[in-house]
Amino acid sequence: MKPSTKPIVIIGTGLAGYNLAKELRKIDTNTPLVLVTQDDGHFYSKPQLSTAFFYGKNPKELIITDVNTMQTQLDATIYTHTSVCDIDSKMQKISLDSPSGQHEIEYRDLVLALGASPKPFPLLAQHPRNYRINNRLDFAHFEEQLAHIEHLCIIGSGLVGCEFAHDFVKKVKQISLITIDPQPLHNLVPEQVGKALQRALENSGITFYTNARIESISSSAEKVALTLNSQDNLIADAVLTAIGLAPNCDLAKKAGIQTSEGIVVDSSLKTNQPHIYALGDCAQINGICRQYVAPILQSARALAQTLTTQIPCAVSFPPTPISLKVQTYPVIVMPPSQKGQWQFESDGEGIKALFMDDEGNLKGYALGGKAVEQRQECLKSFMQAQQNVCLTA
Ligand SMILES: Cc1cc2nc3c(=O)[nH]c(=O)nc-3n(C[C@H](O)[C@H](O)[C@H](O)COP(=O)(O)OP(=O)(O)OC[C@H]3O[C@@H](n4cnc5c(N)ncnc54)[C@H](O)[C@@H]3O)c2cc1C
Repeated sequence: MKPSTKPIVIIGTGLAGYNLAKELRKIDTNTPLVLVTQDDGHFYSKPQLSTAFFYGKNPKELIITDVNTMQTQLDATIYTHTSVCDIDSKMQKISLDSPSGQHEIEYRDLVLALGASPKPFPLLAQHPRNYRINNRLDFAHFEEQLAHIEHLCIIGSGLVGCEFAHDFVKKVKQISLITIDPQPLHNLVPEQVGKALQRALENSGITFYTNARIESISSSAEKVALTLNSQDNLIADAVLTAIGLAPNCDLAKKAGIQTSEGIVVDSSLKTNQPHIYALGDCAQINGICRQYVAPILQSARALAQTLTTQIPCAVSFPPTPISLKVQTYPVIVMPPSQKGQWQFESDGEGIKALFMDDEGNLKGYALGGKAVEQRQECLKSFMQAQQNVCLTA
């Protein structure tokens, strides 16, 4: 039988799309490869968006490899500023909407690496002074506005909200961080670590409004006025919302691909439709959305194997700590998944929190400030404890 010359098509050139393409090319230099993206296709590392100013970088300097070089290196065709608007899973083709018009491409295998979109804050969804930063072009647009922003309100005190607050504090005169939670990184780290982070951010000039609900918003052409449940009235030049991400599922849903919170895939990253796979922020792998870089790299390696051998290769996710990139008070956490309690060691410069189960096994940890220097020992003890449990089970 003549081998198919139809390409593998990857929709998305974020870390998921490009890392998959790189892994594929390590083992298969022959199969035609096509990538499609709504943006300009330059390769960059998204986590650097929230530390760019600290490292003195502007949006252009965040580009690691430009799109033309990516095309050459990957021996791929890359369609930029192009949206995939339809998937025909029976005929194995997609419809593209590009600046030069609409056309179709057939695929041998299709990979959805569509990413996720920032959740809108309902009262502000369409407001022109409301910003959400989830890619390099969003960041570039926001950077252009910075000169006109004296007071920035950030909504959300998760990893992204805290990192942006910390990164913008030297560029913006006044930053207010509004959060519905009692302290930052609530649900991720124990209260003591969250509070210590809050103090460090306050010391760098950020004002916190915790346990805060936005009751009303009014605006003029230049300003946004936010009234909180505490009756604080904040008048800002811009609002940045960082309240989480929702996987981009619409395209998949329209094509009859199963979706839930994200695009539903099994451990070999296969959807319910033949020859269609998903990875990255859009994917819900065995029931879980993992919107971090490490799972993307692991998924890309496994999927490259599946696509080249046509034998399903299951991805596995070893426990990986999550880092907060706030240089004045870094945090590293291995979130616990079982019952137990936190034990604390702290000095003026850092907190080490160990999560122990009833048998005294280490089930998670959180390090704040100087204590992050103990990251290697903690990871080692954690992995050791995992192995011991496996051996005794
Ligand atoms: C500020 C910030 C800091 C972060 N820091 C960290 C960190 O420190 N550590 C960590 O592990 N993770 C971090 N993350 C998360 C990590 O960056 C993401 O998990 C990862 O970048 C997601 O990559 P992706 O390729 O899945 O999605 P994306 O990068 O969002 O790429 C999606 C791609 O799909 C394309 N696309 C979507 N729909 C269509 C369509 N219909 N047609 C054509 N193209 C389409 C887009 O154009 C884009 O190319 C951070 C995220 C943010 C926002």
